[in-house]
Amino acid sequence: MASTSNVGASSAATVNEAPPSASAARVRVPPKNSAGNKTDPAWEYATSIDIKTRKVKCKVCDWEFTGNAFRIKHHLAGTNSNVRPCPNCPPEIRKKFLVIIDGLQEKEKERVKGS
Ligand SMILES: [Zn+2]
Repeated sequence: MASTSNVGASSAATVNEAPPSASAARVRVPPKNSAGNKTDPAWEYATSIDIKTRKVKCKVCDWEFTGNAFRIKHHLAGTNSNVRPCPNCPPEIRKKFLVIIDGLQEKEKERVKGS
């Protein structure tokens, strides 16, 4: 007597993977140095007297002038560019703002090159 049992199993699984979806590019908006935005390091050394007329006062030498954070930086760094240098600015602060201005100009150059 012979009995044959044959259990055949066949499984066909088809794996259908969807193509990886492109991840959405995250766009970061850099903060702008507007009159109301006081995150700029320049505001550590100057105060805004009047936002409307953009009148500011240098805390280091008490000089009042019209300008924004950009001009304050140049005043503190003593670049003589559009604004007179700060007579009382300590060398370490002068150096700090020179580095900041240098970095801004580098960024500006890259932006022009890249476009
Ligand atoms: Zn000053």
